[in-house]
Amino acid sequence: MSDARTSGPLHRLMDELKRLPGIGARSAERIAFHLLKAPREEAAALAEAILAVKDRIRPCSRCYNLAEGELCAICADGRRDGGQIVVVEQPKDLLALEATGAIGGVYHVLMGRVAPLEGIQPGDLTIDALVRRVKAGGVREVVLATNPNVEGDATALHIAAALADTGVQITRLARGLAPGSQIEYANRAMLEEAIRHRRQA
Ligand SMILES: [Zn+2]
Repeated sequence: MSDARTSGPLHRLMDELKRLPGIGARSAERIAFHLLKAPREEAAALAEAILAVKDRIRPCSRCYNLAEGELCAICADGRRDGGQIVVVEQPKDLLALEATGAIGGVYHVLMGRVAPLEGIQPGDLTIDALVRRVKAGGVREVVLATNPNVEGDATALHIAAALADTGVQITRLARGLAPGSQIEYANRAMLEEAIRHRRQA
């Protein structure tokens, strides 16, 4: 029996919304009915914003951060210290560290972490590109800012080994961060501590 409230396009919208992280059936229904009632411009602005993210954002050709052009805003900023590369697992970690204002250098986004159980090997990350950046010269310190958990530590170890013969100083964020925690959820003071007290990796 067809239900007039959830038939056709409205049902389709709810189905699409339910696929988003953190959106259950109830939320999907609430959002769908909100959009149904909202002015057309509001719905169009949302649809346009979603497409703009897909069409205009791509990985920075140097650091793999999210970028609107060839380089991300940080790589394109001449005031940043190119001699210090802070290595993070994902763009969300970069945003969290950047919000502390304690990083004067640039970043390198791995696009994941080594996780053998999920079949993610070092070769699936952007480690080769990082090694090439360091070998190109001008880098004095690589700060390993992977998460303080088993996979983040394994990833950091692997990178330290890959950079061992470059002579660059390799540091790791200090354990102001609770073991097993995640950078993207850490508060600003904890992150500042971890950056300030980073140690030889
Ligand atoms: Zn970049």
